[in-house]
Amino acid sequence: MSIENYRNVLKHVEEACRRAGRDPKEVTLIAVSKTKPVSMIEELLPEGVLDFGENRPQELKEKYEILPKELRWHMIGHLQRNKVKYVVGRSCLIHSVESLRLAEAIQEEAEKKQLVMPVLVEVNMAQEDTKYGLTAEETPEFISQISKFPNLQVNGLMTIAPFVENPEDNRIHFRNLYKLFIDIKGRNLDNVNMCNLSMGMTNDYEIAIEEGATMVRVGTGIFGERVYL
Ligand SMILES: *Cc1c(COP(=O)(O)O)cnc(C)c1O
Repeated sequence: MSIENYRNVLKHVEEACRRAGRDPKEVTLIAVSKTKPVSMIEELLPEGVLDFGENRPQELKEKYEILPKELRWHMIGHLQRNKVKYVVGRSCLIHSVESLRLAEAIQEEAEKKQLVMPVLVEVNMAQEDTKYGLTAEETPEFISQISKFPNLQVNGLMTIAPFVENPEDNRIHFRNLYKLFIDIKGRNLDNVNMCNLSMGMTNDYEIAIEEGATMVRVGTGIFGERVYL
């Protein structure tokens, strides 16, 4: 049952906070519901779960239309420019901004819909060829550039750590991303509000919390293995 899994993950989130001397209220557990049916999401609603993560724009749109409007939809996957229209106005936060062209497309759509779209900038900490995201070195200049867009607001950073056997191997990436986060926050750029650090998935969210995550994205640990058809 997803409810029991959810409670169990939440307990581990709280324990990781305690170990790190952090207030559990600082950490948002995002239930990554991609590929999972609406019925499994509904199962969690009596538990007070509001934050869900999706990686396909059309799937996010469909679930948004069906489910209660107070839910918060996080766009966590790679976003193509021609799909931005499905997400802006439905998602509370796009975690995966990694190019100027994508940021421009989001700015354009948000302007059209007369809203300000909060985003995170995706950083490829382990510099894996298979992953999207900027290098740590490019990130401050990139944020300074997109901070000029009036209908988009940078709210922090996100990373997808490598798949590793031992989650301890990812600690260094989380630690380095936290340092980058603090560095950029300290620059006090106009129209930049560095309040969120999205890092950690089923295998490594506890370590990510120990290293300063404010958002963890857990799919398998809550909903079970995904089947891709
Ligand atoms: C699928 C996905 C997750 C969740 O992964 P699990 O290992 O199932 O917890 C987290 N973040 C992103 C960006 C994803 O695409």
